[in-house]
Parts: sequence; C-alpha cells; structure tokens
Amino acid sequence: MTRVAVNGAAGRMGETVIETAADRDDVSVVVGFDVDGVDEVQGVPVVDAGEAADALAEYDADVAVDFTVPEATLSLAEACREAGVGMVVGTTGFDEDGFAALDDTAEDVPLLKATNFARGVHALLRAISEALPAVPDYDLELMETHHNGKIDAPSGTAKTMLETVQEERDVEPVYGREGHAPRDEDEIGVFARRAGDIRGEHELIAAGNDEVLSLSHHAEDRSVFAAGALDAAVWIENQEPGRYDFGNVIDQ
Ligand code: NAD
Repeated sequence: MTRVAVNGAAGRMGETVIETAADRDDVSVVVGFDVDGVDEVQGVPVVDAGEAADALAEYDADVAVDFTVPEATLSLAEACREAGVGMVVGTTGFDEDGFAALDDTAEDVPLLKATNFARGVHALLRAISEALPAVPDYDLELMETHHNGKIDAPSGTAKTMLETVQEERDVEPVYGREGHAPRDEDEIGVFARRAGDIRGEHELIAAGNDEVLSLSHHAEDRSVFAAGALDAAVWIENQEPGRYDFGNVIDQ
C-alpha cells in the first residue's frame, strides 16, 4: 500500500485524486496540503502547505502527488527533499528556472512529471510520432479546449504535443494566428479555447489538399488524470532518485 500525500488537496484535481484513491486498495491518501484554510477533504486531514516537510514525516508518506501551481510545486519539492519522499508532478506552466529546480530535486528523490496522466494522451503522442512521417508536406494545426478556470495557455499537454511534432517536423508555432498572413509551410498554428467545465480536449490535424488526418483525445472526467497519477505514485515508490515520465509507468 503506497502512502500518498496530496498537494493542492482542496483543488479540482487534488479532490479528485483523494476521491479516486478511496476506491483503490494499492494506495491510501494519508494527508493533504493546501493554502485554503481547509482542514479536511473527504475524511483526509489537510494541513497548511508551509508545514509539508514535518507532515510528510509525521504521516509517514511514501510519495507526494502534486496538482497546484508551479510556485507551490517547488516549495513542496524542498519538503520532499528534506523528508526523502518521491514526487509525482501533474502541475503545468513551469518556466525554465522551474524545470531546472525540478531536475535539481530529482538528484535527491525520484520525481515523475507528466503534463497529462491520461493513458489515451500517451497513446496519442505515440500516434503522432508514428503518423507524421507518412504525411510530410501536410499543414499542421493544434487545438486545445479546457474549462474556464485553467490558468496556463496553451495547455501543458498541447506543449508536449508540439514538442512531439517538432521531433518529426521542423515547424515553428504560431499562437492564435491573429492578423497573421497566409500560412507558411514551416508553421503550426496553436489554439487555446476556455469554456465551461470542459475537462480537456486536444486535437492535431494534418491536412493535405484532398484529405484531413485528425488525431484527438477527449478527457471525459478528471478521474482519468487522477488514476494515472496514482499509478505513477505506486510505481515511483520503489524507484531510485532521478527524473521519470509517464511512459515509464505505462511501459513497466
Ligand atoms: P485548482 O486551481 O482547482 O487547484 C489548485 C489547488 O492548489 C487549489 O486548491 C489551491 O488552493 C492550491 N494551492 C495554491 N497554492 C498552493 C500552495 N502554495 N501550496 C499548496 N496548495 C496550493 O487547479 P486544478 O484544476 O486542480 O489544476 C492544478 C494543476 O494541475 C494545473 O497546473 C493544471 O494544469 C494541472 N493538471 C494536470 C493534469 C495532468 O494530467 N498532468 C490534469 C489536470 C490538471
């Protein structure tokens, strides 16, 4: 049984992780952290994130799962280092310094970061790598849609899709295309929409003159991300310090 601490316990994803874990017998959420003044989420005690280092030890956590904001992830990283606890990071929107700080943390504890914990998105990324060589001259456009509370745009998943495309094709992103001249063959349009409570939709189209290839993924419930993050928590408990990604969990 992997003992999990959840950072951002009162948030959309944090709460879903706690709810999803309650139905599993391989993980148990022992404590949550947040800054909201919430004491408890679905029976799990929630303590102030500033006390995370002590609480990780007190509640004997094996792994911390984080769905917050980059600043909160980095302060949890310090606590995990101090307590010798592995991390599963779902938070998106890090800048270069943030990525460097995560790399630094991974020298001391195992750290797995994924912009998307849905297994279908992982399959989508593999499908993109596989498909693009067959359509070398087609125009590429990337779209994502999320709920109106999402902070970063484009989404972390869209950025990962873009990186995957750029491993196959030398294209430069054009964001939003406002006032832009007719498309250049070396560009990829990237579009973000925010509306309602849409969990997450991503689509890459590759269009020639006579056909359109569409590769897409729709998340129907946040529990899909929570399940993947918990699978990652179980997996990382027994790993050595280092940087890992969700592919390591899927390929195990
Ligand atoms: P949210 O705003 O609903 O929840 C964030 C929570 O973090 C809030 O409860 C907030 O109070 C808390 N928080 C803020 N500062 C904190 C701090 N210093 N210490 C501890 N807690 C703090 O957001 P959300 O929709 O749950 O998304 C959170 C993150 O997860 C975003 O970056 C989002 O893009 C990402 N996300 C990733 C995946 C994935 O599969 N990797 C899936 C969904 C969302």
